[in-house]
Formats: sequence, C-alpha cells, structure tokens
Amino acid sequence: MLFGRKHKNPITIATKPVDKWVYATCGYCSTGCSMEVGVDQTGKAVTTRGVADADVNRGKLCLKGIFEFEVFRSANRGTAPLIRERTFEHFQTTSWETALDKTASEIKRIQQKYGRDSFAIISTGQIYTEEFYTLGKLVRGIIGTNNYDGNTTLCMASAVSGYKRSFGSDGPPGCYDDFEQTDCLLAIGSNLPEQHPIIYWRMKDAIDRRKFPLIVVDPRVTMLAQMANIHLPVTPGTDLVLLNALAHVILKEGLEDRAYINAHTTGFEAFSQLVAQYDPVTASKICGIDEDTIRNVARLYAKAQSAMTIWTMGINQSTHGSDGVVAINNLNLITGNIGKPGGTSLSITGQCNAMGTREFSSCSGLPGYRLLEKEEDRAFISRYWEMEESFFPEKRGLFQTDIFPAIESGQIKGLWLIGTNPMTSMQQTARIKKTMEKLEFVVVQDVYTDVESTKYAHAFFPAAMWAEKEGCFTNTERRVNLVRKVVEPPGEAKSDLWIFSQMAKRFEAGRKIKFPQTNAEAFEEIREISRGRLCDYSGLTYEKIEARRGIQWPCNEANPNGVSRLYQDGRFQHPDGKARLIALPFIDNNEWPDEQYPFWLNTGRVVEHWHTRTKTGKIGNLNKFSPTPYMEINPAAAERLNIKPMEYVRVVSRRSMAIVLAQLTQRVAPNAVFIPMHYYDCVNRLALGLLDPYSRQPAYKQCAVNIQKVENQEAAAIANLQARTY
Ligand code: SF4
Repeated sequence: MLFGRKHKNPITIATKPVDKWVYATCGYCSTGCSMEVGVDQTGKAVTTRGVADADVNRGKLCLKGIFEFEVFRSANRGTAPLIRERTFEHFQTTSWETALDKTASEIKRIQQKYGRDSFAIISTGQIYTEEFYTLGKLVRGIIGTNNYDGNTTLCMASAVSGYKRSFGSDGPPGCYDDFEQTDCLLAIGSNLPEQHPIIYWRMKDAIDRRKFPLIVVDPRVTMLAQMANIHLPVTPGTDLVLLNALAHVILKEGLEDRAYINAHTTGFEAFSQLVAQYDPVTASKICGIDEDTIRNVARLYAKAQSAMTIWTMGINQSTHGSDGVVAINNLNLITGNIGKPGGTSLSITGQCNAMGTREFSSCSGLPGYRLLEKEEDRAFISRYWEMEESFFPEKRGLFQTDIFPAIESGQIKGLWLIGTNPMTSMQQTARIKKTMEKLEFVVVQDVYTDVESTKYAHAFFPAAMWAEKEGCFTNTERRVNLVRKVVEPPGEAKSDLWIFSQMAKRFEAGRKIKFPQTNAEAFEEIREISRGRLCDYSGLTYEKIEARRGIQWPCNEANPNGVSRLYQDGRFQHPDGKARLIALPFIDNNEWPDEQYPFWLNTGRVVEHWHTRTKTGKIGNLNKFSPTPYMEINPAAAERLNIKPMEYVRVVSRRSMAIVLAQLTQRVAPNAVFIPMHYYDCVNRLALGLLDPYSRQPAYKQCAVNIQKVENQEAAAIANLQARTY
C-alpha cells in the first residue's frame, strides 16, 4: 500500500502473511476495543485489526492496539520460575513444583508466626475476570488473609466509592451510546484523546453530527480542552467547589427536576442547605472560574434535554476524589440525568479489566458486588464454596495504600504481587523501596522479569499474558468481551488461573476444595453466583459474547442481550430503592504553591504509553515517541528561569526531586507544570502521599513544586539514560 504524494517519499507498509484471524479484546485500556489478531502459518502473531461490526470501536484501534501483536515477543518475558534465598542475590531458575512449594510454605510460616492477615496480596486490573474470581476464592476461601486488594485502588477506587455512596452499588450507569443521545457533555479531569482515544472518537463523531456543547473542566489546556465550547481552567483541587456552585445556581434558579428528586432521592434538605453557601461569587474566588461562567454552565447543563458527565483521574486521584464523584452524581440526580439516554454519570475506567476486579475479585468484599459486612452475603458464598462461613472476616481489610504503611509498621511480613508494580505506581518511591526491603518474603507474579518490584522478590512466577490464554474483560460501559487464545505462552510461563489452582492444592490440608481448573469452569461459577445480582452474568456464554462483540451486564433471561443503562426505572441499590443526595463541604487540604514551591504540579498520560510502561516501554513504535520523562512548562516561566527547550531541569517538592526534560508549551499556565505519570522513579517521588478518606485512593494529581535549571546538562543526560535503559 502506498501513501504520500505520488513521487515523494512514499511509505510502504509490508503486506502481512496472515493465515487466520483470532478474535480478541484489547488488553490495554478500558475502552474495550474488539480486535482480531492475525497469525501466520508458523503460528506467529503478525498484525492486529479492529473489528468492523463491534459497537465499541467500529473497526478502529488506537496506536497501542495497532501494535499490540508485538507484546508477545517483547523483551524480558519471564520463561521459568525463579527463586533465591535473599533479595539482591542472583535468582536461580527452578521448577514450578519448587517455586510453588517454597511460596506456599513461606505463606504458611508467616501466617502461623504472625497471624493470618500478616501476609498481603495485591493484584491488578489486567488479568481475566475468571482469574480474578479464582484468585478471590483462593485468598478469601483458602489462604484466608484479609489484607488483599487490587491496584485499581490507585485508579478507580474513588469512582467505586462515589457510586456506592450515591446509588448503593458500584457499576457505571451509562454507556458510549449516551454520546449519541446527549444534549450537553461535561468532561471533568479527563483528557480522552490521549487516555481513551477510541471513546474520544465516538464522542467527537457524535459532536460533529449533532453539535451539542462540550464543556471541559481541566487546569491544563488538554487536547480535549482545545476542542471544547467552554473550557474551565479550574484551580487544581477545587472541583468540589465548582460542582457545588453549579448545583447552587440550578436550585436558586429553579432549574432542578423536582419530580425526579422527590420520587427517587433522599437527602435533599441537607444538600440544598449546603450548596446554598456556594454562591458563584464566593466559589469563583476559590475555584478560579468567574461567576458568569459558572452561571452559564449551570444553566446550559440543567436546561439540556439530557446531559451527561464523564470524568477520569482528575477527579479520582485526589484527597477528596470520592466526594468529587458524589458531587457529579448529585448534579445528575437534581437534573434527572441518570438512567436516561444521554443523561448519566459515566466514570471512564482505567485498565482493560479494572471493572472485572470490581465485580468478581472479592478484593473489597465477596464476588458479585457482595459485602463481607453482610451476613447473608457471607452465608451465600460460604455455602457455594462449601466452606465454613466463620472463615470469612466480617469487614474488608486494608486497601493497597494502607498495606504499605502496615509493612512499615511490621504488621505485614509477606507480600504476593500479581501483575502490579508498586515500585513505579505508588506515591513516594523512595519510601516504597525501604518498605519492600522490610518484607520477609515477596513473590512477584508477572509476565516480565524486569518489573522494578522483582528486585525485592524471593520468588518469581512467570505468567502468561493477554491472548496467550482465553477469558473475559469488562469495559467502561459494563460490556463483557472475550479474548480467545492466539499464541502459546513462552517457555514455562503459565496462566494466572493455573498458578492459583496449583497454589490452592498446597493449602487443602485434608479439606476438599472445589476449585476451577480452567477459565471456562470459573466462568460457569460466575454465571451461577451472579444470577439475580446487579452484575448478572447468567445469560452470558463465550459464544454469545463473541458473536455480539461484547454484551453489557446485567445479562439474564429477562435481558438476553444485556442492558445499556442502569437505573432506568429510578430504583437504586440502597435498601429503600432511592439514591442519596449528599451534602459535601469543601475541606481545603491542598498543598498550594508558595514562595518556596511556586508551581502547581499536575500529572497525566500520553497516548503512546500505558500506565508504568511495563509493556509500551518495550514496543519500539510506541516508546520512540516519549522514551524519557519530560515536563511541560509555560514559555514565560521558562524564560524567567532561563530554561531552554529540551534542557534538563530539576523538579523539587517537599518530598523529593526528579530530573526531566523541559518542553515549552502554552498548554500549561505560567504557574503550573505537567509531567506524564508513566516513568519509573519520576513524578511519584514528588507526590503528596495523602489519601482520600473514603476510597483510600492517592492524591497523585496536584502538589507544589520548585523548578531549577540543571547546570551540568551532560551528566543529567547520562544519568537519565542509565536509569531508563531496559
Ligand atoms: Fe486498546 Fe484502548 Fe486503544 Fe482501544 S482505545 S485500541 S482499548 S488502548
């Protein structure tokens, strides 16, 4: 195929010798694009293509999906179990038998010596729902530690918490089709073109055809903000003030949907009294958005036939992330914008299967959105798993972000990391390093041997990745989709489910435990235990999912093709069936810029990388676009500090410092800088270290920093290169 002008530098894309196409779902973000992986006659994956009749992506893929076939052959795959007596010694290759026996005996030793909860387990958003379910059964039903969580606490916990507080359950109520139906779209702290490019394309396509207003709330002039009708460059950390002020105007001007409020909510009195204090004049002094714009946006939103809000980490990763989500839900409840076409609160989820872990991993409770705190839920699952109900704790244990302080304090002595890399993803990297050194036993289960956390491991389990096995992911709009097996895992790498089932055998101790041996068996258990629940899978089969290119739960006899929107009848999951309007006072615990640290630091993502670059850092066609950490700084600020484009600068916070390249751009305000979150030992060194009180999600998004020019540019370049060579 030829591109370019006829006689000038044509680009040739080689024809790929595809023998067969295998159905899959993208393993990066939660957009959930359907794709097919092309396999040649030797069984090698050689290309990918979007599936044209899949409603999610309609044939399209973003850059990461296009090159996803390369992940199978990426560098430093784990191909054999590894073991060592002490960290930092050389690993020895060993058999699965030895690695599993050693790990099981260390878990038992630690639990016997220090108590059942002294061994912690942290998982991921990357494995299949069947594997999450099986892991939950192993942890809750067999090993029996309560200190078990997923790394989704770093990403979506505030959305989960906010949905539970407002609606009585987790579960995003809307869908992508809402873009086609809405009359007004509010996007808060969400840069779709870089984070979720195909959702962006769905949204942009709908705007181009129907011209509804797009309002973007973001301190930075992101790609999404550049195409907005109204951009609100809110002062970092004050989104709650803005949302309360919007509600204030709506109530003051009588623009609310009083019939919906009366029929489907409780808490209106306290809520209306609270937002009465957030008049636009007062609010504008805190959130930095002028009073007329606040009034204008509130009127636009409330008068639209239907209006929807989307958000991502700009809301979630904050000391009041859960309150921010509830405030969005408040806005949609008072305007009657829940469960109707184009009217919704839609959190844009992170990892490809962050939803699967929320539904069935048992991290925050028991599978199928059941709670450890509810006697009937404990009784149901213990009967189904054929175990003693008293084995379950009666409330959930520590979140991931509390597990590390518990290691510091000596409460936790052992750790199993599954597809997660806290050395890069947690706040305050230096502190996490010291914490990891304190553990008596660490096992890392990952597809790559070079994830930074492996440095602290005593055992390494090589896991099969993505389409080296078969199973389901759930996307942002509750759509369960399928990945078929495309290639064999390398060497001795095994599926996560195989590893969990082998570990379960080592804990049987005379008990007969019914444990799934395949993902298909686990899927059958999920179907059975989810029957009648909000996340009902009982009507799903692998064949049906593939044929329909994904189906949105609940899917059952009554709704054999799934359900697009939750709460269409106005009945919520709280015991009285009503949603909660919750009064949310703004508590200012921001670290504001001052003379010593005069810049706001904001963090975010770039389109070519995925989270901690574990995968995308190894794909040449992705990594080449941003191989090294950089910072966006306003040209006026750069001039004041005598910083030239692409010079190294030192970014210093009250916690630590990082060296990055400077990129001059008007996208950031003169008193702000932006650094992508993907790089090891970089932006997370600087972060606040504070958590949301409800979700325990970290406040990665904003803090105060100082910027200093680095005098010895050459030394900085060499140090940077050494730190980032894979
Ligand atoms: Fe994959 Fe997300 Fe890109 Fe779709 S938008 S191809 S799911 S990374």
